[in-house]
Amino acid sequence: MDMLNTPLGLLLALQEHDLQIEGVAAQLRQLPEQIEGGKRQIEQGRVDLEQVRKATTQLQMARKEKELELQTKEDLIRKHTTELNSVKSNEAYRALCGEIDRAKAEKSVLEDALLALFDQIDRQQAILKQEEQHWKGREAELLKQIQAWQAEQEQRTQELKQLEEVRAARTQGIAASALSQYERIHAGIRGPAIVAIKGEICSGCHMRLPPHLINEVKRDQALVFCNICARILYLPESRVAADRGEPGVVAE
Ligand SMILES: [Zn+2]
Repeated sequence: MDMLNTPLGLLLALQEHDLQIEGVAAQLRQLPEQIEGGKRQIEQGRVDLEQVRKATTQLQMARKEKELELQTKEDLIRKHTTELNSVKSNEAYRALCGEIDRAKAEKSVLEDALLALFDQIDRQQAILKQEEQHWKGREAELLKQIQAWQAEQEQRTQELKQLEEVRAARTQGIAASALSQYERIHAGIRGPAIVAIKGEICSGCHMRLPPHLINEVKRDQALVFCNICARILYLPESRVAADRGEPGVVAE
């Protein structure tokens, strides 16, 4: 009997197909999180850049404020200097000179502060320019990546749909009882529902199988289940052995 057409052979093919479905489904599950992660990075990048911009604007506002203060001092010095011509007493003259000296000293402090601020603004503008350039590239990269993920999501969704359709068609040809046994185990455990016997060991639970079970599998009359883990068993070498004319059944 051709093993490919026995319930076991058909179920093994179905299991291969289910593995493919699970692979695609697993990839599909990861994509929304990747897309969301990319969007969050874009959001954060924009917020970070906005902060650098804001810091630059604040420095420029501070500069304007200082310039205004400086202008006020200069106006005051000019006004007092003009007033010197019209004072009547020596005392008033000295007082006015004192005012002018104080304003000049304050003006000098303001000028130093402004120079320091100019330096700071230059540095900040250089940082902003660099950040803007870097972000331009990074944002484009992220947007491109998100688009690729979205395209992949669409493609995988289609792929999964087709695989599910093929699966539905495949199950039509499998005996109902065998199929329901497979589905029950498949839904209830991690990993494959059908496992190979390797050197008299069940490769699902790694326990040694009694010889009569192995013989039942070799007869391939009905599905045989591991007496420990209840997975469906198959012999990967049974067909090869049969082709070589070796005895198929071991002594129980
Ligand atoms: Zn087992």
